[in-house]
Amino acid sequence: MPKNTEHTLSGTTPRRRPKPEVLEIGGHKLKPSTLMMGHGYDPMLSEGALKPPIFLTSTFVFENAAAGKRHFEGVTGKRPGGAEGLVYSRFNGPDQEILEDRLGIWEDAEDALSFSSGMSAIATLLLSLVRPGDVIVHSAPLYAATETLIARILGRFGVSWLDFPAGATPEEIETVIAAAKAKGRVALIYLESPANPTNALVDVQAVRDVRDRLFAGEDEKPPIAIDNTFLGPLWSKPLRHGAELVVYSLTKYAGGHSDLVAGGVVGAKALLDPVRAMRNTIGTITDPNTAWMLLRSLETLELRMSRAGENAAKVCEWLRGQPQVDRVGYLGFLQPGSRQADIYQRHCDGAGSTFSLYLKGGEREAFAFLDALRIAKLAVSLGGTETLASHPAGMTHLSVPEERKRALDIGDNLVRISIGIEDPDDLIADFEQALRAIG
Ligand SMILES: *Cc1c(COP(=O)(O)O)cnc(C)c1O
Repeated sequence: MPKNTEHTLSGTTPRRRPKPEVLEIGGHKLKPSTLMMGHGYDPMLSEGALKPPIFLTSTFVFENAAAGKRHFEGVTGKRPGGAEGLVYSRFNGPDQEILEDRLGIWEDAEDALSFSSGMSAIATLLLSLVRPGDVIVHSAPLYAATETLIARILGRFGVSWLDFPAGATPEEIETVIAAAKAKGRVALIYLESPANPTNALVDVQAVRDVRDRLFAGEDEKPPIAIDNTFLGPLWSKPLRHGAELVVYSLTKYAGGHSDLVAGGVVGAKALLDPVRAMRNTIGTITDPNTAWMLLRSLETLELRMSRAGENAAKVCEWLRGQPQVDRVGYLGFLQPGSRQADIYQRHCDGAGSTFSLYLKGGEREAFAFLDALRIAKLAVSLGGTETLASHPAGMTHLSVPEERKRALDIGDNLVRISIGIEDPDDLIADFEQALRAIG
């Protein structure tokens, strides 16, 4: 359904009739990259504008009093089915609704929600699920702010957690989930795959099997959520492997131009309804301008991610042959026959474009390399059109205790790289001169 029905500029009866959406042609289902150009938007409802306008408005006019009441019944959950139209911009707007329709397409998700940042998506999701005394089970490590949120912030409200390492075996996963179940109500199982910066993949299917087995016959099963920022939505589609809620920092590959901050959650409508209600309450939705920028970004998502992935494969292949390089932690180089390679085979369609470069030496060598880069920019974040490089031990993971840094293999010689869509030979030329500059 085109989502701008409420916003025709021509009053209560649209001047031009909406056109039916085309989702398939003669039984041939259209692909996400095709649908990104028009899905969820009908130009005829916005004066023929090819592209959706940015709807800058805080509130929406009701057709009549009864329609206003009906809208509120939907928003507040008094009537099942949700909002029929738009009410107020803290709840939703046309640009955000089009964005949400398109986000869901990539993973064949029933529903999707957009947020003001990846962290506000995660926080809203967690707040909608946890109660005092609950236990959260999570894979480790997680994005640092997510760990802070779970351990330090939710911890203040009597929520505890148990974790298993990202690369855990089904047996290890079972031990931890069973221990959590013995401890209290398990609010959710929260995963992040691949883990940063270890690149360890979580066996989502194993987590699902264990969850289903341990909670068989119970009224309430903890939902399985996963942060798919590093590989999604192109290279990993976790809903297919047993996850039920997929979380994104859209700031990264989805936004893709390092010019916005946003988040998303996709999954089944029944699971997203309480998250939407929490978002309505606390106002963590993305703004219309950012939603519009994301619509533009999604049109080139497949092109950008494909090119970045091809570039990364070339760069990593070149890097691993260099004398200054100790090893390259890249998903394309998993040991054939290993458990990680098995998970990769089952869960991933590509190795991504973010990897760990372990140089020979320590901080001096890593800094010399980073300071010599001329194309790649020295910045945290990932998934943009441009190549970025950073030093986890001295930057993103600076406050991680030494012991845990060692366990996670975050040495002073580690450089984290996110490859962009530049010419791959130019990138290799840049890395070549920077490696030589180490001396
Ligand atoms: C960046 C990131 C986040 C947080 O997203 P923001 O948009 O910065 O709030 C969460 N998870 C992962 C894996 C990330 O890379």
